[in-house]
Amino acid sequence: AERIAGKIQKTIPVGNVEMRCSASIGISVGPNDGESLEDLLKHADAAMYRAKSIERGSIQFFTTEIEEKTVARSNIERRLRTAINEGALSLHFQPRLSLKTGLPLSAEALLRWTDEELGSVPPDQFIPIAEESLLMVEIGEWVLDQAISTLAAWQNTALSGLSISVNLSAVQARDRNLANFIASLLSAHRVPGDQLELELTERVLMGETEENLALLQRFRDWNIQISLDDFGTGFSSMRQLRLFPISTLKVDKSFVGGLGENHSDESIVSAIVGLAHSLGLNSVAEGVETELQVRHLKNLGCAEAQGYFYSKPVPKEIFEDW
Ligand code: C2E
Ligand code: CA
Ligand code: CA
Repeated sequence: AERIAGKIQKTIPVGNVEMRCSASIGISVGPNDGESLEDLLKHADAAMYRAKSIERGSIQFFTTEIEEKTVARSNIERRLRTAINEGALSLHFQPRLSLKTGLPLSAEALLRWTDEELGSVPPDQFIPIAEESLLMVEIGEWVLDQAISTLAAWQNTALSGLSISVNLSAVQARDRNLANFIASLLSAHRVPGDQLELELTERVLMGETEENLALLQRFRDWNIQISLDDFGTGFSSMRQLRLFPISTLKVDKSFVGGLGENHSDESIVSAIVGLAHSLGLNSVAEGVETELQVRHLKNLGCAEAQGYFYSKPVPKEIFEDW
C-alpha cells in the first residue's frame, strides 16, 4: 500500500500551477473482514474513509471499531429520513439577554431529535450525517418554517418584540433556493425580516465567494440579521468581517468558560468584544454559566449573553412561560 501511495503521490504541473495528488488507502483482508467480494470492498471502502478523516494520504486497515461506527452511522441516517414525517424533530429555545438591561431580546432555536429506536440523539451527532446525505437541506427548511411560524404566533403578544436566531449549515448556504425559501416564508407569515437572525460559522463563509456574498446581500435586503457563530475558533478572517454584511459576533463558549480563571481567555474575549465594538457590530457571549462570567462580560463591554446561567434550551411552551 505504501508503494502504491508513493507512486500516486506526484506533483503535476498544470499551466503555471503545481498540482499535488495523493491517495488514501483502506485495506480489508479476507476471510476475517468478509467472505464475499462485495463485503470486502465495502469494508475496504469504510477503512478508506477512516484514513481520509485521520489524515489525507494515510493507510488504514478495517477494524471492528470502524464496522461499529459505520453501522451506527447508517442507522442514524436511515432513521433520520423518516424523522420529519414522523414528527420526531422539535425545536428548543434558549434566551439571549441584554447585559445592560437584563431583559431578553431574542431566542436561539436549537434542533432536537428523539427517535423511537435510538432515543434522543444530540445535534452534534446527527447534523454532520444529515449534511453528508443532503438531508440537511430538508431538515433546515423544517427548522426555518418552525422558527418563522413561531415568530408569526408571537406577533401581537407580549413576546412580539423578540427575534429568533436559526443556525444555518454549510449545505444550506450552498442551496440556491435558500434565499427565496426564507423570503417567501417571511412574507407568507407577515414577519418582518429584522426579527430573524441567521447564525453562520466562519467555516460556512470560507472561500469568500461571490455566491456567499450575493446570498448575504439578499438577506440584508430583507433586513435579516447575520451573526458569526463560534467566533474565534475557526477562520477568524478580518477580510470576512469587512467583506460580508455581518451584524453580530458570537464569542465562542470555550473562551467564555475561562473568564475569571484563565488570563488568555480573558484577553481573547476582550479582543473580540473590542473588535465588534469598533466595527459597529453587536457582541454576544454564549455558554455563560456563572455570575462571575457575567461580571467579567459587563466589565469588558459585551452587549448580550446567553447560557445555562439564564436558562437551558427548553421546549417552546416553557420558553414562553419563562
Ligand atoms: P451552537 O450553535 O454553538 O449552539 C450552542 C450550543 O451550546 C447548544 O448545544 C446549546 O445547548 C449549548 N449551550 C447553551 N448554553 C450553554 C452553557 O451555558 N454551557 C454549555 N456547556 N453549553 C451551552 P446543542 O443544542 O447541543 O447544539 C449543538 C450544535 O448543533 C449547535 O452549536 C449548532 O452548531 C448545531 N445545531 C443545533 N441546532 C441546529 C439547527 O437547527 N441547524 C443547524 N445547522 N445546526 C444546529
Ligand atoms: Ca448557534
Ligand atoms: Ca455557538
